[in-house]
Amino acid sequence: MGQGGAEQSGRLGELLQRYRELQEEFGPMDEDALIDKVVASVAHRRRRLESALAQIAELDIEAQWLVDEISGREQSLELLLVDVVRRVGRMLEDGWSPDPLLGFRLWIMNGSGLDGAKVTWRTRVMTATCLTTGEADSVPHSDGRCGRLGCGVYATKELDPLFAQHLNARSHGYAVGLVELTGKVVEHEHGFRAERAEIVALAAVGVDGYLETEDPDEVADLCDAPEAALRLSGGLRPSGVLGRIERFLTACQERRLGWT
Ligand SMILES: [Zn+2]
Repeated sequence: MGQGGAEQSGRLGELLQRYRELQEEFGPMDEDALIDKVVASVAHRRRRLESALAQIAELDIEAQWLVDEISGREQSLELLLVDVVRRVGRMLEDGWSPDPLLGFRLWIMNGSGLDGAKVTWRTRVMTATCLTTGEADSVPHSDGRCGRLGCGVYATKELDPLFAQHLNARSHGYAVGLVELTGKVVEHEHGFRAERAEIVALAAVGVDGYLETEDPDEVADLCDAPEAALRLSGGLRPSGVLGRIERFLTACQERRLGWT
């Protein structure tokens, strides 16, 4: 014992050093045995601490390795599942799409949200319900149980029909968006009926304001209080606004198609 002083630093190390020097000059003291015991006890615990820290470092490395391993396997699993779901889903023609599909929608802005013909959107995500049957399973229905047009969130493949059919002489107070369609998606010639739709880009035309955005928070604000959000944006309404909307939403669509 008695060699523990080397491991101490700072004030305690200086004190131990001074104690050893005094011990050499003065000879044995009453406290020697107790001091040796405490010094040895500290040294013992210090070794245990070092060992524990070494184990933590090893566990850290193992944990990081496991995170990487899990991520790699999850990527393989996702590819595998997308492949199986796409192949078998196509065989069963159940319309469930593993990849989001993109479509366009138009809403009329009113005081409480974005009026989408049948329901008002107050948030940027809409989940379809079957208003005709009230049945929640396998929405949108593709077996004709809720009529010729059927339930689901509607979206068109092209922008032009939206402008032509729904805008008429309206010059403001509407919003046009790019929506990502997920879950069960039934494809028709000119559009889709989806189980779930999320607005990923929105162009809104107010009395004297215009806003185009892909920011989820700004889209949410526009759904929540369209006219207020549009006034806050303060953007002047450009002339030839339909062309502007078309360029913006088409660019958003092309970029997203490039991602997948
Ligand atoms: Zn239905």
